[in-house]
Order: sequence, then C-alpha cells, then structure tokens
Amino acid sequence: MDEKYFPEQIENKWQQRWNEARAFEVNNDDPRQKFYCLEMLPYPSGFLHMGHVRNYSIGDSLAWFKRLQGFNVLHPIGWDSFGQPAEQAAIKRGVNPRDWTEENIQHMKGQLQRLGISYDWSREIAAHRPDYYKWDQWFFLKMLERGLAYKKVSQVNWCPNEQTVLSNEQSSGGVCWRCGAHVVKRDLEQWFLRITKYAEQLLEDMKEIDAAWPEKVLKRQRDWVGRSEGAYLDFAVKDSRHKIRVFTTRIDTIFGATAVVLSPDHPLLDELLAESALKDDVRAFAEKVKAELATADETVEAEKEGLNTGVLAINLFSGETVPVWVANYVLMEYGTGAVMSVPAHDERDFEFAQKYSLPIRQVIAPVTHQHAGAEPTSVTGTDQSADLNRAFTEFGILINSGDWGGKLSEVAIPEMSAYAKEKGFGEAAVTFRIRDWGVSRQRFWGAPVPVVYCDNCGMVPVPYDQLPVVLPQNATFTGSGESPLAGVPEFVNTTCPKCDGPARRDTDTMDTFVDSSWYFFRYCDPRNESMPFDSSIAQQWTPVDQYIGGDSHAVMHLIYTRFWTKFMRDIGLVNFDEPVKSLMTQGMVTNRVQGGDEWKAMSKSLGNGVDPDQMIAAFGADASRLFVLFAAPVENELRWSETGIEGAVRFLRRVYTAVYAWKDRLAEAPKTVNTDELSVDARALRRKTHQTIAKITSDFDQLHLNTSVAALMELFNQFNDLNVTPSRASQSELFVAKEALEALVVMLAPFAPHVAEEMWEGLGHTEGLLNGRPMWPNTDPELARREELEIPIQVNGKLRSRLITSPEVSEDELKAAALADDKVKSLIQGQEVVKVVVVPRRLVNIVVR
Ligand SMILES: [Zn+2]
Ligand SMILES: [Zn+2]
Repeated sequence: MDEKYFPEQIENKWQQRWNEARAFEVNNDDPRQKFYCLEMLPYPSGFLHMGHVRNYSIGDSLAWFKRLQGFNVLHPIGWDSFGQPAEQAAIKRGVNPRDWTEENIQHMKGQLQRLGISYDWSREIAAHRPDYYKWDQWFFLKMLERGLAYKKVSQVNWCPNEQTVLSNEQSSGGVCWRCGAHVVKRDLEQWFLRITKYAEQLLEDMKEIDAAWPEKVLKRQRDWVGRSEGAYLDFAVKDSRHKIRVFTTRIDTIFGATAVVLSPDHPLLDELLAESALKDDVRAFAEKVKAELATADETVEAEKEGLNTGVLAINLFSGETVPVWVANYVLMEYGTGAVMSVPAHDERDFEFAQKYSLPIRQVIAPVTHQHAGAEPTSVTGTDQSADLNRAFTEFGILINSGDWGGKLSEVAIPEMSAYAKEKGFGEAAVTFRIRDWGVSRQRFWGAPVPVVYCDNCGMVPVPYDQLPVVLPQNATFTGSGESPLAGVPEFVNTTCPKCDGPARRDTDTMDTFVDSSWYFFRYCDPRNESMPFDSSIAQQWTPVDQYIGGDSHAVMHLIYTRFWTKFMRDIGLVNFDEPVKSLMTQGMVTNRVQGGDEWKAMSKSLGNGVDPDQMIAAFGADASRLFVLFAAPVENELRWSETGIEGAVRFLRRVYTAVYAWKDRLAEAPKTVNTDELSVDARALRRKTHQTIAKITSDFDQLHLNTSVAALMELFNQFNDLNVTPSRASQSELFVAKEALEALVVMLAPFAPHVAEEMWEGLGHTEGLLNGRPMWPNTDPELARREELEIPIQVNGKLRSRLITSPEVSEDELKAAALADDKVKSLIQGQEVVKVVVVPRRLVNIVVR
C-alpha cells in the first residue's frame, strides 16, 4: 500500500489480480447458496454510456455484497449483438456487420473491465454467434411443432425510414421505437409467435412476482395484455342470412344500442353491400379511411368519421332494427371488428352519435340512495335522454330494458350473457388486447428463420441436426426493404430435407427480442452443444434473484421473456412460471443541456453525454462508481455532477489516508475489549460501527445504495471524532479503531472494490476479500443500540461519578439516577441535600451540607 491514493495504479493492480485468480468465475457444483444477479445485456453499439455505467454499478454492488455474505454469486454478461445499427453501418459505410459488431464488443468489453465490473467472463455469450442463435432456431422449431409459431399474411407496422417491420410494442403511439419515424401499414406474409395463448397466464402469474417487481412495470404489462370480460353478441342482418358479431363489455346496455358500427376492413362489408345502391359510396369511404389509418399518427386521436351503409341489423334482445355504419374508430385488430353503438353509455359512441345525429337512448340509471341496499327489482326509470349531455358510463340500474328493467348492471350482465347463449346468438367471453408476436424481419443481421420451401412438400422445417442455419458472411445492402438474404443465392438455394429436391430457404430473420428472451438461461450453461442449456444446471441458478435494467423494457423484453419461460416450462426445460424473482428498474442519467438549465437524458445529439472512459481516466473507476451510486436512489433520475464525483474522490482519499496512517499500529490491536472500560468517544464509535453494519445490510435488501454510502461516510466521520492519533491510541482505542476501519473497508467493497481490496491488504490481510468465506461484518445488536450519554455527577462541584444514560432522559430521571448512584449515595450519606442542579445532557451537581 502506497502512502498516496493513486486510483489508476490500484485499479490496474486489482483488475489484474482478479483476472489471474479468475475471482468472479463460479462453478455450477459449488455447495454454497446461490445468488443470480443479472443486468440487462447491452447492445454493442461501440461505446458504453452512463446509463450502462449506472446499470452495471448497481448490479455489481449487489454481486459484491452477496459474495461478501458468502453466497455463490452468478454475475454474467453478454451481448445483444444482432439488430439494426450493425446493418445500418453496413448500408451507410459498407462495413461488414460481423466485423463491426466484433470490434464493438472488444472495445466495450475493455471499458467494462476498466470499470472493474465483477463479471464471470468465462460465461460471456453473444447473440450473433452461431453457437448462440442455433438455439433461437431450435426454440423456433419447438414452437412450430406445437403450433405456437405460424405464418400468416397480415398488415404489419412498417418503419418507412428503416424499411423494416415493427411489432405493436415497437410502434407504440404510431412512431418507430428506434428512430421515431411515423409508422405505416403494409401487407406482408409474416411469422408469428402465439403469445396470446399465454395471455391469461401472463396476468395470472403476476401474483408470484408482484411483491418484488415495480408496480409501474406490472401495470404496463397488464395494460398490454388488456384483458376485458364481456360477451359476443350477434346482430341479425335484415333480409340476409348473415350475422354481425360484436364484442361488448356492457351487454347490460344492449337496449340502448342505436347502431352497429363496422371497421372499414370488416370481411362482411362487401357481401352485405352487394345489392346496395350505396355500395360504391361505402367502398370509396372505406378505402379513404383505410388509407388515412395507414399513415395516421396514433398519438393524435383522429376525428370520428362514419357513413351509414343503408344496411339494417336486428337487435335480437329487443327485436328492434338499427342501421349499420362504417367508421374509422372501429379497428379490425381488436375484438371482432364490429361494435354496437350505445351513445348514452359510451363516450366514444356518444361523440359519434352527436356528430351524426344518431338517437341517444338511456337504459342505465344511476343508483340513488333510495335504491342502494334495497332490492331494486321493480324500479321503473323514465326516459331521461333529453337531459343527457354526456355518456353515463358507470354501472347502475337497467331501465327501458324489457324483462331486465330494474336489475343492477352486475346482476343483468351474467343473466343476459346466459340468455344470449341459450338462444344461440351470443355468449360470455374474455378478450385480450395483446396480439401475437410478429417475429419476421426483412433483415440480414438476425437469426435466420429455420424453414425451407419446396415445390413438392411446401414449407419444411430444417431438421434439428442441421442447425444452425448459418448466416452468410455478407450480403448486398440496398436499404430497399427486401430481405438482404434473398440476394445471396448460396444461402437461398438448398435441398429439401424431405424429398431432396431443390428448395429455397426462408430469407427473413427473427426479431432480436427472440435472442434476449432466454439469454440468461444460457449463461448457466453457456457452452452446451446439444441443448440450449442443461435443465438441471439451469435449475441450480434460475430464477434470477435480482434483475436490473431500464424501465423502457417494461413491456417488450420483460413480457417476451416471461412468455418464453412459460413455453420452456411447457416443454420441460424449467420447472417454474416466472424467470425473475425481483426486478429493479433504474432511473435515467441526465445532464444539463449545453448552455441551458434543462436536465435531459444524456445523448449524443444533445451533446450532454459524458464519456465513461474520460471519467475513469480523470477520477478512477472506484470514485465514478461510488458517485453514481451515491448521487440518487437507484430508481430516481441521476443528475451528473462534476462536484459530486470530486466529492467521491475526496472521500476515498481520506479513508485511504486514514487506513495508511493507522495500519501499522492496528497490527498491535488486542483481540478483545471490555466495553465498560471504553471512553465515551470509543463507545460511540463502536456503536456507530455496529449500527452502520445493521443499516447497510438491510439497505441492500431494497437496493437503497445511496443511503448505504451516506452511512459509510457517517461512520468515517465518527471514526475521526475518536480524536486520537495512532501513536497515542490506547489498547482499547486500537481495538475500536480496527473494528471500525475494517468494517468500513469491507462495506466499501461493493461501491469501490479496487481501493477496498488495496486497503484490506494494507491492513495486513494476506487473503483478499474474495477468499470464499463470508467476509461481510456481523452486527452485534447489543452494541448497535441507540446512542447513550456519559454524564458526570458532581458533589459540591467535584467529580464523583458518571452516569451512562440515553440522550432522551428527562431532568427528573437524571436527578433521581444521580441520587441513586452507589458512589454518590455513600458520599452524601447523613448529609442534607440542599439542591440538585441538572444541566440537560451535560452534568448533574448535587449540593449538600
Ligand atoms: Zn424506425
Ligand atoms: Zn420437398
């Protein structure tokens, strides 16, 4: 240990030592209790950014904490290395996506190593390497066998800028999640994964994780899955054999339906209009609406537009005839592509009815106090539609509703669904908002879909023993939207595995979210050549104990990986429902926008980014990490501050200097101490040491890292309050100082591991902090008990005794305790107590004569 704190030297030394000792590599057969600490794997764009630094510093502190507690900690990293930017680089600059990706990985790996993040690099994986994507293809075939992967022509979300398909999630709000372009619709034949089959489970299984996942993430997932309970109902088409099926969550409002409204894509539309004089008008309108929808900005609610088709439908509950309309607000993708319009009880229908002067008929009345409680079987409502100036959308009492009049909505809904079922024109049903996951991409840089097309046999899956279907070295990148693989004849032309005839490979690749749906299972068994991973090995490590990443992945990655896990369970690879026990979503890292006072997420375009390499060079990895963890609670926004990071350097330097100054004397510290003999300051330090251990140990459970760092700083202040130089320290002070400094150093390791190791070595420990034994200090609850004061007791102004009391003690209690003190009692025996002076928290003086 040098006298001066030189971060670079210390960090190099320990990174090299850890590397040589393979300090962070773990064995699958280690008998210690496991802990799986996982951070979201990065896309290898080429450079780490501060969001990465924050993410990995959080994860690393937990990994260190658990290791120091004696757990066998799996802390792996890999690369989400398929995807868009590599291909964009190929298109723009003509570089090979593989070379570009590999170079970026090497660079970023170096950056992570300079940060000293404690990864088990022996388990590193990369999605673009054939030994990994082979298993994406394997899973795809397993899903194909079970009918969970299927192909259909569909209207897809298309990013016109990047010329690629986007999933619903990736085009949320009508804009491309990557480049922000307005998304348009296109018809393409696409592969889908049947995530909808798991919709119910994705909701139901949330109860297994809801205590340890952020509610905001669960809410977004619930909204995506979008379960609604309701009923299918048929309307008969007048003078036709056809029926129009609608989905409604409010069958109790059926008597208020004044129209049936179809989506412009509704498959029945052409047939219904075959005989109609209006058919050309309706078709023209439908085409116009479709074109508008295809380019619509979904974030802006379009004005509702509709057209009466002239077709009539019959409400089978009331026998009443209502007009059939086409409108732009009914989408084919949701429900049945047809709705009943109940203006009195639905805001959207109300607005539509107002615009087109459709009748508004109230059939639900609010429950008034006189109704509530009583059995409202015979309420006769009056038609109040004249007063209705907005929709009444709550549950209430049915009025104007035939046999159901007077019933509560809650009662009527199941009864009416059952009635429709009995009569054969409907049934209770549950629908979901979530759509199947479109995974086809017209991209080069992804895992090829492992099927071929043969003129004789049709679509044929590639046999398992022929996996992986390897990407060719390169392709021509035109940026035209055609899959680049289609332009590589050596790839496309193959033989049919069934008949040996000529066949063509599928030229689409899979969405990169396939790669990231199961990657953390592969870490458990990363070199397995016969399976994605060995079940029994994965069982030892998974589910992940703590997952850490940005909340931008709340609905894509984190839904897909839950789906994938349920599928893996169903094919016997794992034996649980949920892959991640506890999730932490970290806040953003922001910085002032140049020349302004606005704080925004760091980004290249705003010029407010901070380069982690420069930060490490200027301040050291330890101080950088300490700052990042101290500056804000992990889930909050983290504001970059040069002053803050300088403060972190200063703190580390002060601790380092103190350890250096004390280390030789501490070697002489006794092994035990009698607490009763300690000075007030020494007692206070012992107490603080044990309080700090207790606090940080419990703070880690909630990842309250900023308060842990604050507690370390307080402990160090208390150490300085000991106010004694090493050379003058008594034996008992040496004991207390050693206990405090050693605890401080070990507890600093999760935040600043290099300098912690250096100081630990400086304190005379030949085995490092990672020696396989639990090194985290234990707290003694007795010693950690709250603060106490030592109060001198004087008799006639002379110090005669001391009282140890709590600082909250009252004056009367202090007085009584002083008079009851044994030494004092014997001194004042037989004398008259004239008065007792109490200076709160300071002194008691007993005046006698
Ligand atoms: Zn885009
Ligand atoms: Zn064939």
